[in-house]
Formats: sequence, structure tokens, C-alpha cells
Amino acid sequence: MSWTNVRGHEEWRKRFQHVWQRGRLAHAYLFVGPQGIGKRLFAIELAKALTCEASAAFDACDQCPACLQVMAGTHPDVRLMSRPAEKLEFPIDLIREVTSGLGVKPARAPRRIVILDDVDQMSDDAANAFLKSLEEPPPMSLLILIGQTTDHFFSTIVSRCQVIRFDPLPPLLIEELLLQDKAVSGPGQAKQVSQLSGGSLGLARQLADPDVFAFRQEWLKMWKQPRFDSVALAAKVNEFVEAAGSESAVKRQRAHLALRFLADELILALREAAVQSSDHPWCQRWGVEVLLRLTEALLDAESHIDRRVQLVLLLEAFTDRLADSAVR
Ligand SMILES: [Zn+2]
Repeated sequence: MSWTNVRGHEEWRKRFQHVWQRGRLAHAYLFVGPQGIGKRLFAIELAKALTCEASAAFDACDQCPACLQVMAGTHPDVRLMSRPAEKLEFPIDLIREVTSGLGVKPARAPRRIVILDDVDQMSDDAANAFLKSLEEPPPMSLLILIGQTTDHFFSTIVSRCQVIRFDPLPPLLIEELLLQDKAVSGPGQAKQVSQLSGGSLGLARQLADPDVFAFRQEWLKMWKQPRFDSVALAAKVNEFVEAAGSESAVKRQRAHLALRFLADELILALREAAVQSSDHPWCQRWGVEVLLRLTEALLDAESHIDRRVQLVLLLEAFTDRLADSAVR
């Protein structure tokens, strides 16, 4: 019954159930897929299904002490960790602590389970620390790494994990979940937000915020003007970022969101440019070459958001560079 919490990944649930029934659970999995589609929730439900003390089936009861402890984050054999919001990489000390903990005999569950979320950025030292425990996995241990793509991982790490690729959620499911959570005003907004979410419930929930939605509309409208006003564009995005409050992590999240909106629009324009029958204003103005140049500038800015640079300077430099790329 507990698996009903996970929506849209039924195939993977069944696959894990079969693997578990055959006693062939791997020691390490790497869950990859876009943000906000339920990978972390899936990992927690998997941990519960494997540690529940009341249910012999591959499903947690959500009521026994083990289930309650996993949900509260206090189970002695199940650990869930994310990259600290203020850190750019997973701290090496945390990795060492996790990998050494995996080797200890479980206190009450059949196995020790460690779930590490946001592992896309791992330093070389951290990756090496991981490799040791992946090469010689401790018995009765299960490691689940969660990231967005396999691109940022050492190929040696990827090759030692079983990679599970999660798909974006179907738009209709996102609509249903938004309505169920009362995150939207009604079916009309649910549909509108879902169509822009790219299958990410996380992004859909953010877009359900009227301020975020309004910013997206105005921001893209500004980029579609015949001439880029890079001063006005930088001011617009800075205003949006500053409105998030004083916390740096939340501001960075908003900067990511602003670039994501632009990236989605660029992908759309590139797709339309490929079929050469587009009325997208960017396609009418530029060819594929310029669109790719803009994409490059965007990816570059995106990769700098989490580094220690002043956000306002970064966004100003980005809008200048994009405006330059477009007229070059
Ligand atoms: Zn239980």
C-alpha cells in the first residue's frame, strides 16, 4: 500500500519487486532523471519496503516501528542525505562517514541502506572515496545515489552501479497531482502549468506560484522583443531573484529557474528551426548557429550559478553575453 505514494514509475517498482523476489538486489544503484519527478520518494519507498517489519511482501505497512523510523529519518540502518544547500559539492567527510558506516553490521534491518541525493557534483576526492566501497561492497549493504544525469559522474562509478533511468511524469498525472495537492486554483491552471513543466512535478509546483508564472511570461516576452535590452533584462531577473528573500540557496534556485525558462524556449526554437517551418520569433530572426551560440552562453551561465560568484554580476554578464551573441 505504501507504494501508492509513488506515482508514474510503476514499471520500476515491478522490476525491483522481481529482483528482490529473486534475491538479486544489487549493492549500488544510480537513479537518474530530471528534477522533481519522484526519484527520491521512490528511493525512500524502496528503503521502507526492504526494512518493514510487519509486511513480508514487497510493500511497507507505514505503521511498524521500522517504517515510522525510516519516515522520521531515525532508523539506525537507513540514512538519507543530500548535499548541504550551502555546499557546492558533497563534502568528502560526509562521503567517508557514509561509506565507513555501510560496512557496519545492520542493527535491526536485513541490510544497511544509504540514499545520497543531489550527487551530481562530486569532487575527485569524494568520487575516489566512493569507488573503494563500490569496488568491495560491504555485505548486507545497499547504496542508492540520486542525480540528474550520468554525465557528471566518473565512468568508473557509473559502471559499478546499476543505472535506473526515471522518465518525466505524464502531463495528465501532473495535472491530477496539482489538483489533489490544491497547488493550483483549478483545472485550467493545472493544465497550463503542467504543459510548461516538462514532466517535472517540482517545476509545476513552482510554476503554480503566480509570481513565478508572471515572471516567466514577462521574461520570455522581453527576450522576444526585436532588440535585446540587456540592462532591462538583467534588472528583471535580479528583481525576481531578490524577491525570493535573503537566503542565498533560494535565490540561486530562482536564478536557475529563470535560465531554465529560457533554455526550454531555446530548445523549442531549435526544434522548430530543424523543421524549417517555424513562426517562432527567434527562428525568424536567427538561424541554428545563433540559437546554438545562445544555448552555449546559457549553459555556461547555468554552470556558474552554484559557484561562489556574485549572482547579480553573473546575471548581468550573462544577459550582456547573450545580447552580444545574438547580434554578432
Ligand atoms: Zn512497516
